[in-house]
Amino acid sequence: MADALAEREAKKIPVPDEVQDAVRTLLEWAGDDPTREGLVDTPKRVARAWKEYCEGYGENPAMHLARTFEEVGGYDELVLLKDIPFHSHCEHHMAPIIGKASIAYMPTDKVVGISKLARVLHGFSRRLQVQERLTAEVAECIWDNLKPHGVAVVIEASHSCMTARGVRTPGVGMTTSRLLGCFLEDARSRKEVMSLMGY
Ligand SMILES: [Zn+2]
Repeated sequence: MADALAEREAKKIPVPDEVQDAVRTLLEWAGDDPTREGLVDTPKRVARAWKEYCEGYGENPAMHLARTFEEVGGYDELVLLKDIPFHSHCEHHMAPIIGKASIAYMPTDKVVGISKLARVLHGFSRRLQVQERLTAEVAECIWDNLKPHGVAVVIEASHSCMTARGVRTPGVGMTTSRLLGCFLEDARSRKEVMSLMGY
């Protein structure tokens, strides 16, 4: 039992002392006592949790678009992945951003596995972000790598730095969009993609 516990602990990434100290300083600053029982292991947990929240720094999201399929059976209509849930953190408060994204593209001669669009989103969202940049980064990554006729990304999210502090307005959401190519230039394509996304 104790061995299993020790084994599990050994598999976890080591957390440098100065990182743990930083969390202790913050706990104290917030008004608590970092030496009390419930908080003893919190610095390590927080540090590891932040490594996970920020996993995106360790990857280039474009890699998810490297494998494409050219046999699409003559399909030349838009491809849409709708309401993909995601988590991110705002770079101003390191507070959670929780939302959903809809991602569409109009293929030229190649498509990707549909789950790859979600992977691109997560690659950029698992970093410190602002919603506007996240939206643009996802759209531009697909645009640059698939070279489609068009890309449309719409993100709706709620920001804890606004709902839980500051103006404290729960329920309020923010919507951002980035349209490229045919979705930007052609009113009919834009209308089609927006209505399929539910806007
Ligand atoms: Zn914020």
